[in-house]
Amino acid sequence: MKHPQNNLPSEFGDPKRALMVRQVLEDAPGKAGVFRKLYSGKASPRQAIKAKCLECCWMDEIGIRECTATGCPLFNFRPYQVSKRKAGAV
Ligand code: SF4
Repeated sequence: MKHPQNNLPSEFGDPKRALMVRQVLEDAPGKAGVFRKLYSGKASPRQAIKAKCLECCWMDEIGIRECTATGCPLFNFRPYQVSKRKAGAV
């Protein structure tokens, strides 16, 4: 029986994208949606940044929140930051 995930390459037209979605589905299924949206050309720039940070820290939200790579162009835009208001700084 053919596994449904074997259909991924044609879904995105790129084996590297299909592999990424497959790996995300295995490791963090709840995060696959943003990659599917991105590879389908339906993601916003904010969602693209989220996907990049998720890839960078391999689906670790805390790792993204605590990212120390201040030289990264996405640093100020990364998701999962604690807002200054919620942190009690404002
Ligand atoms: S901001 Fe941090 S987590 Fe996001 S891509 Fe840059 S280095 Fe990676």
